[in-house]
Amino acid sequence: MKIVMLGAPGAGKGTQAKMIAEKYTIPHISTGDIFRANIKNGTPLGAKAKEYMDKGLLVPDELVCDLVVDRIKQDDCKNGYILDGFPRTIPQAEALTDALSKINDKVEFAINVEVPDENIVNRMSGRRACVGCGATYHIKYNAPKVEDVCDTCGEKLILRDDDKPETVQKRLDVYHEQTQPLIDYYKNQGVLAEVDGTVDMDLVFDNIVKLLEA
Ligand code: ADP
Ligand code: ADP
Ligand code: ZN
Repeated sequence: MKIVMLGAPGAGKGTQAKMIAEKYTIPHISTGDIFRANIKNGTPLGAKAKEYMDKGLLVPDELVCDLVVDRIKQDDCKNGYILDGFPRTIPQAEALTDALSKINDKVEFAINVEVPDENIVNRMSGRRACVGCGATYHIKYNAPKVEDVCDTCGEKLILRDDDKPETVQKRLDVYHEQTQPLIDYYKNQGVLAEVDGTVDMDLVFDNIVKLLEA
């Protein structure tokens, strides 16, 4: 199963991608997580990516595409994978299509999680991310058992710098301009599946599973 998650920042892509990856035992590949890990480890890639991420801008395509194309060639991706946060631009989608077509392969499902902009700022300001394992929570909709402590690894939960309202609006503008066109791109490939992302996260998940197994 080769799946791409589409949707605005905060639509719930990561939340759903983790559940799908677990259900179908396929790797969850999040470019945002990869960049954050690089920042944490102080790599040159992390330093470059951070300049853009802090401003709510996309990291340039040339820093993203090879990284993902190399990742999906690894052994654990043989039976499929779920890409979360990639592609985010038409050139990225084309790079993925090209890399896959070289091995006679293609994306099977592009799942668009639909959430209107009005709901996004609220979602993002309540999002908390674990500094240890990257797990995400929401102070209201998916609260950790102990405030500001990760259920899974016990590390501290933080509000990401780029989840502050002033940066979120920029990220939404960038989403509409550069990422939303991917909906039509995958519609034209005949692999688009759309779900309502405003309902409870378990229900969103049930609806995605129905689409995958239809
Ligand atoms: P969210 O899940 O809230 O949409 P991500 O964790 O996916 O956020 O991404 C955080 C930031 O990392 C983005 O705002 C962007 O700067 C950068 N980023 C992640 N994936 C990509 C990508 N495919 N292309 C360019 N930039 C990316
Ligand atoms: P994305 O990866 O698209 O940026 P996340 O999966 O990190 O989005 O979700 C953004 C925030 O919204 C998180 O705090 C998450 O717990 C919360 N969230 C995700 N799905 C839902 C939902 N269906 N209803 C309410 N809150 C949700
Ligand atoms: Zn954790």
